[in-house]
Amino acid sequence: MGAELEFRGLFKPPVVAHLVPGNWYLGFRCHACYETFAIMDEPTGDGEVEPMGDGLFEVACPACGSENRYAAGDLLVFQSASAMSDEFFGSGDASA
Ligand SMILES: [Zn+2]
Repeated sequence: MGAELEFRGLFKPPVVAHLVPGNWYLGFRCHACYETFAIMDEPTGDGEVEPMGDGLFEVACPACGSENRYAAGDLLVFQSASAMSDEFFGSGDASA
């Protein structure tokens, strides 16, 4: 039931400033500080989207300010939660 989302070209997306716990997002892990940040809402709302294409993203990390270029293949699909609960429960229900 995955939904394919294709990216082509160069994107300079704004960072999603306020993540809602329980909601799904697309984002990246910062190359400099390894913090994960979101650039857009995950369109299916349940983490089933599959990022595709050869698009590039130039984004400044909201945590450290480092501006890096990321590929569509680097996109992470993640569910926002508190850092603690994410560590404890992991992603055991992510059946592929
Ligand atoms: Zn960073």
